[in-house]
Amino acid sequence: MDTEAKKECKVSDIFVCAHCGYCCQGETTVSLNEEDQARMIDVLGLPREEVANRYWRITAGVVQMKIEDGHCIFFREGAGCTVHQGRPWRCGQWPLHPSILADRSNFETIRESCPGITSSLSYEDFCSILRTLLNRDRQLTF
Ligand code: SF4
Ligand code: SF4
Repeated sequence: MDTEAKKECKVSDIFVCAHCGYCCQGETTVSLNEEDQARMIDVLGLPREEVANRYWRITAGVVQMKIEDGHCIFFREGAGCTVHQGRPWRCGQWPLHPSILADRSNFETIRESCPGITSSLSYEDFCSILRTLLNRDRQLTF
């Protein structure tokens, strides 16, 4: 990929969220570290105790989001994540996880779980764009 092409790269070349909610479903969620908790509290604009009571499941000191109807409490059909700016960093990494670059099987597994991944690209082309984006932007926001 030449320098001009690298400048032009955008997340939408490799991923456009379909808002299907697959990544927000299940009986558990990602865990929230201290920074995640503080950011979520800030975005929700509520006291910590209220956020914890309404939205968190705390087990042996591990904070996760509550599950309602088989999905994260913040997921809404048609709207997606309703705490987008305050979501945990692990949610923010999905599905463009750096582990894709390390192993093709990670790419295949993530692609099977996420219909937003551009399916027309080869693994090599996908990695080339993802590597460029990660090197250029350090933290991908989408
Ligand atoms: S699984 Fe992929 S396409 Fe579906 S909501 Fe999650 S990130 Fe978006
Ligand atoms: S915080 Fe948002 S992105 Fe993360 S699991 Fe919940 S609804 Fe999905």
